[in-house]
Formats: sequence, structure tokens, C-alpha cells
Amino acid sequence: MASSSLPLFKSLVRGTGAATRNSATKTYDLISASTGKIRAQVEMASPEAIQAAISAAQEAQPRWYRDYSPMERSKVLLKAAQIMTTQAEALAHLETADTGRPIQETRAEGPGAADCLEWFAGLTKCMGGGQHMELAGGNFGYTRREPLGVTVGIGAWNYPLQSAVWKSAPALAFGNAMVFKPSELTPQTALRLADIYEEAGIPEGVFSVVLGDGPTVGTSLVQDPRVSKVSFTGSVPTGRKIYTQAAHDFKKVTLELGGKSPLIIFDDTNLDVAVTAAMVANWYSSGQVCSNGTRVFIHKSMHDAFVERLLERTQQLIIGDPMNDTTDIGPVVSEAHLQKVQDYIRIGVAEDQAQLVYGGQRIQAQGQQPLNPQGFYMQPAIFTDCTDSMRIVQEEIFGMVMSILPFTSEEEVLQRANDTTFGLSAGVFTKDLQRAHRMVAQLQAGTTWINTYNLAPVELPWGGWKHSGMGSENGVAGMESWTRMKSVYVEMNDIQSPFSC
Ligand code: NAD
Repeated sequence: MASSSLPLFKSLVRGTGAATRNSATKTYDLISASTGKIRAQVEMASPEAIQAAISAAQEAQPRWYRDYSPMERSKVLLKAAQIMTTQAEALAHLETADTGRPIQETRAEGPGAADCLEWFAGLTKCMGGGQHMELAGGNFGYTRREPLGVTVGIGAWNYPLQSAVWKSAPALAFGNAMVFKPSELTPQTALRLADIYEEAGIPEGVFSVVLGDGPTVGTSLVQDPRVSKVSFTGSVPTGRKIYTQAAHDFKKVTLELGGKSPLIIFDDTNLDVAVTAAMVANWYSSGQVCSNGTRVFIHKSMHDAFVERLLERTQQLIIGDPMNDTTDIGPVVSEAHLQKVQDYIRIGVAEDQAQLVYGGQRIQAQGQQPLNPQGFYMQPAIFTDCTDSMRIVQEEIFGMVMSILPFTSEEEVLQRANDTTFGLSAGVFTKDLQRAHRMVAQLQAGTTWINTYNLAPVELPWGGWKHSGMGSENGVAGMESWTRMKSVYVEMNDIQSPFSC
């Protein structure tokens, strides 16, 4: 039973109609990934609160766009970046409490979010139409780049702060307002972000956070006719639903969805570099990274040495309390997700000739070190002798399940790497630069890496191909995603009548 002393998280709606935000609604429990115990409660946004958030955004947006020049919006976002930096440690603690990701990982989230705010603070100053055309008869035309209006952001649970900032920083930079719904599992950093924006000087109503589940709260946001854009990060099935619902009002949609990415390691790669790449691409964040390279294509000639070294190093990882500075791998986010990953490991064991050569078990201790028995801890799982058609090779598991797939030639591995419905990312390791560039030019993925993996600096656009999504976030492309163009024709003479009278 939850005790009344537990923290209670509520939606943050300021501005028009905000008084309605506390109307009675359901609450649900948040469970700690490291102890399995109830750690807080969340009040679901009521229908009135959702309406209030959208009304507040609708009222605030025109003023945010017209009364604040790009230079002024830029200064506010820079201030938010500054506050974000000073709060990085506190944000890391909130993120670890919500996700179970190790604190040594989540310490990167605040600085990463600050980078994103700074990037868009710079880019908003370049917000212009970019075209001035001389037209017939001494007339001329120009284009204006304008905000979309009221936008909605919906985030996933694995990188909650990143989801919230990658959506809201560009939305706000280009003069939009946003109502953001974090995942029901991870509300805390989005709420803190709303406070940071307020402290930085963003007017009330421009950014609100509503809490709750997808089917009720998320759907209401997506279906509201006042919303002009939905930016979503999450699974393919939810992305498909959102795309369909948003089509009714022809809303703009950005979808950042799942993946099953190839990591391709050629035989000119140093063995330890190859193993580091596979570990980074599979074990970071307990494997809960959309772009993970879970299909590890390793050149046949180095397969055995690679597997041996990978096992040796994976065994040395410290699995433990995510709040400990030395922990490499924390628990997975929830019991339900742990069960999903465990189910896939059972499927892998039963499938074809695949060999589970390491791990995969739920654990209550690592060596002599006990772990909280109610926590959602598991060992990474390594499968060898995989074939391309296996379910563990084709389907997104979103956990620490690595499939090792030997290959012999460049043409063969390229065809096999692209043989998937996903197209989020891909990595190539080789010292042969020509081969590397040849490969990335043919890989069907929105982001590719040469001799590294899983880096996503804000300077480059991020977005999936095929079933991994549509549109992109970040980069200069971020301006395109959050604005629309208007053409202006200027007549320099009296208008001529085409009629007879
Ligand atoms: P999910 O699809 O279950 O939920 C994502 C969000 O959508 C949550 O906030 C949820 O409440 C909301 N939602 C659910 N149903 C909805 C509906 N009908 N209408 C509106 N909103 C709804 O995904 P998840 O389990 O939270 O996240 C894991 C998935 O996210 C994985 O597939 C992962 O690959 C993907 N992901 C992708 C990226 C990327 O950048 N491409 C980044 C992180 C995570």
C-alpha cells in the first residue's frame, strides 16, 4: 500500500484555465526499478486539465511569437541552458530514480539538454524565409518562416529529459507553444524542465506538462483540433496509431520510433575496439536505447576471438544500484519490461540453432554482492549462431539481448543489414575509409556511424527511415520541423481587372 508520505506528482499547467487543473482524477503508483517498491504517486491529468493546457498554449503562443523577437527568445533559451547546467546533478538523480539508469550515465543528460537549448537558441536567430524574388511588372515576392502554433510532444521512458528537450527547445525557439506528456513511468525531469523554463522567463502557458497514460491523456492531446503538430517518441505500434489519428486534421507529425540496428565489424578492426563497440551498442542503459546495434555482424575470421573477449569483458561489468557511482548496469525500467525481455530470451533459446552463450537470467546478486531481490535486474544475454530470420534478430527487444551474426563479404553484409523493416541507425567499423563511406551510402538508416556508435550530437539531425519513423529532430533540419513557410506576393501597381467591367 502507498503511504501518504510518498511524493505525489501532478501536471504543471500555468496560464488560462489553469485553476481547473486539479479537478479530481485517478492516481497511479510509480515503482522503483531498483527495489520494486512504490516510490511515488502520479495524478493523471483530468480532461479539464488537458483542455486547460491546450487553451493556455493557444492564448500564450501568439504573444510568445510576436512580442519576443528571435533574439529575445534566444536569450531566454540560453538562460534555460544555464539553469539546466547548474541543475545537472539534481536532474541526473531524478532521471536515475525514474528510469533505473546508472547515475554515471544520467550525469550526461543535463549537459546534453543544455547543448540542445543552446543550439536552438542560436538557430532561432536565423529564422527567416530565405527567399526574395523579383517578379514580372516590377512586383516582388518573399517568403516568411512562421511557427506552427500549438504543438504536442509525447515522450518515451528511456531518455525522458532528452525527449522533452529535443522537442520543446526547437518548438519554443521558433515561436510555438507546447504541451508535453512524458511517459507515465518517468514524469520527473519534464516537470523540472517546466520549472526551468519558468525561471528562465518563458511566459506561462507556452510550455505545460500533462501527466498520464497514452490511451487517455496522449490520445486527447493528439486528437485536439487546436493542435497543429505532434512530435512523438515511442514504439512503432503507438506511432502508427498517432499518425492515423493526426491525419484527421492533417496535423504535422514527427515520429521517432523503434529500431533493430546493424553494427558491422570488418576484420581490420582491432579486437578490443570491436568488443567495446558491441558493448556500447548493446549494454548501455541496460540495452534500452532505440538505436542500439543489437544485430552484431562480425567478420567470420574474427568471430571466435571476438566472442571470447566479449564474454570475458561482459562478465566484468558491475551490475548494481543505479545510484552508485561505480555501477555499469542498473535494473531495467519495470517488471513488465523485464518480463518482455525474458520472454524474448526464451524465444531465442527455443529458436533455430541459436546458442545462448552468456547470461540472460534475472539476478538477485552479482558474485558475492547481493542486489535488491525485488529489483528488476538481469544479466546481459549473448546469442551466437544466429540466423537473420530469427525473431530475436528481427524484432525490437529493447533490452540486453545481443545477436551475433558472422559474415564474409561486404556485399553480403550490406544486403543482410538492410533486410529489416526498421531503419533507425547503423554502425560500420573498418580502417578502410573507402569501404566505410561506400557502406554508409548504401545502409538504409537515418543515422550512421563510422568507427563509433550511439552518438547523437544536437548539431546533426536525428530521425528514422522505414518503420523507424518520419521527419527528424535537431540539426539545421530542426527549423524545418517546427515551422511552416508563407509566400507573400507584393503588387507594386494598381491591380488590373481581368473582367470586362
Ligand atoms: P510507447 O509507444 O509505449 O509509449 C511512448 C509514449 O506514448 C508514452 O508517453 C505513452 O504514454 C504514449 N502513448 C501510448 N499510447 C498512446 C496513444 N494511443 N496515443 C498517444 N500517446 C500514447 O513506447 P515506450 O515503451 O514508452 O518507449 C519505447 C519505444 O520508444 C521503443 O520502441 C524505442 O525504440 C522507442 N524510442 C525511440 C527513440 C527514437 O529516437 N527513435 C528514442 C527513444 C525511444
